[in-house]
Amino acid sequence: MIDSHCHLEMFEEEISEVLKRAYDAGISTIITISSDIASIDEIMKITEQYPMVYATVGIHPHDVKELNSEVLKKLFELSRHPKVVGIGEIGLDYHYEHSPKEVQREAFALQLKLARDIGLPVVIHSREAFDDTIKILKEQNVHKGVMHCFSGNLSQAKKAIELGFFISISGVVTFKNAKTIKEVARFVPDEYLMIETDAPYLAPEPMRGKRNEPSFLIYTAKALADLRGVTIEDIDRITTVNVNRLFRIGDLPKGEIAYKIRDTLYLNVTNRCTNVCRFCVRFHTDYVKGHNLRLEKEPSAEDLIQTIGDPKNYKEIVFCGYGEPFLRLDLIKEVAKWIKEQGGRVRVNTNGQGNLIHERKILPELAGLIDSMSISLNAHDSETYNKICNPVKPNAFEAVIEFIKDAKKYVPFVQITVVNLKEVDIKKCEEIANSLGVKFKVRHLDEVG
Ligand code: SF4
Repeated sequence: MIDSHCHLEMFEEEISEVLKRAYDAGISTIITISSDIASIDEIMKITEQYPMVYATVGIHPHDVKELNSEVLKKLFELSRHPKVVGIGEIGLDYHYEHSPKEVQREAFALQLKLARDIGLPVVIHSREAFDDTIKILKEQNVHKGVMHCFSGNLSQAKKAIELGFFISISGVVTFKNAKTIKEVARFVPDEYLMIETDAPYLAPEPMRGKRNEPSFLIYTAKALADLRGVTIEDIDRITTVNVNRLFRIGDLPKGEIAYKIRDTLYLNVTNRCTNVCRFCVRFHTDYVKGHNLRLEKEPSAEDLIQTIGDPKNYKEIVFCGYGEPFLRLDLIKEVAKWIKEQGGRVRVNTNGQGNLIHERKILPELAGLIDSMSISLNAHDSETYNKICNPVKPNAFEAVIEFIKDAKKYVPFVQITVVNLKEVDIKKCEEIANSLGVKFKVRHLDEVG
């Protein structure tokens, strides 16, 4: 797990002790964040001494009165150090206003320009200054960074994400009355989520009131996992990949052919698809819950069987892919047959175009091999379907309806899903499900797995 934001130079005890406790708690990497020019040399010393520590350089809005051309020059020089991974923390703080607002805005813009010129991401501090923060980020054309210790509401989180910013959740999420931040923590899409301690400040429950330290990150991770209905390992993987992506630390995972979410194993059989859905996650990220799904090569049946191991270890094994799995019908037949022989359960998540793709009714060939199927209907009529899903083949909506009817005959459990887009008539979709005698589920945008 990675603590994406703390201030190691503020610890009075031996840093090595703090880092050892963090490491023992499962924290592999720490980013220590600079705030003023007086502490910057100490931060660089710590960063150079400990392989697990990286740094950012920048002047906090409280201290921007000290920002002059000499300081900017120093920041520029330090930003080239191999262990400096970002510019920050920089931004606006209208709560304390230790520096006049106008001075803060100017200094923020100057440091953003520096980040943009050298190509490093930024770590943003924004307190009671959200609108000005977004305005200046847009003016400076900076779209790569993280909103540290995010304290805004849901609509502000959405605006920051739209701009390309990660949202970093601190220990505040563990506080009983932190309703707004809990709501934000539930909402943030996986690919924009980070966690941090902001140590030595803001210790999470049950350590609240004590001096915070990186090892306490696990309490924040646990609260986040509970709120999002995933495991702490999922939070670890998701947030680690995000820090690595933003700050370019460490190796990113290669495309995975199988990945586990909770107690289900998903098989990623292809990245090809017969739709180009407007909302499809694969057009804006390679990652689902921290798993890289961009395949370098489509897996063979042997690859999958070897990767699965014992199918009984999973509640269900799902053929999905970052694309349409029925493009690989023969592979599904072979692997599903093997899973069933081993006593496992099989589900297929499909766009319902299997018959259209193979120009025949494919479901009789799958009788007895599939326990459940989730079919994306995505619209209440053909016109809306074409607008949203951009199918490659004609008459796709009609083909999906026919496929659902067939599925009912050969698959014990069939569910159709719809994404809650504004042009989709959810009620009509539900009526279609009822008339076809299948279950119905509304999916939220970005809900995968
Ligand atoms: S059918 Fe699924 S995989 Fe294909 S484009 Fe649509 S959302 Fe993406």
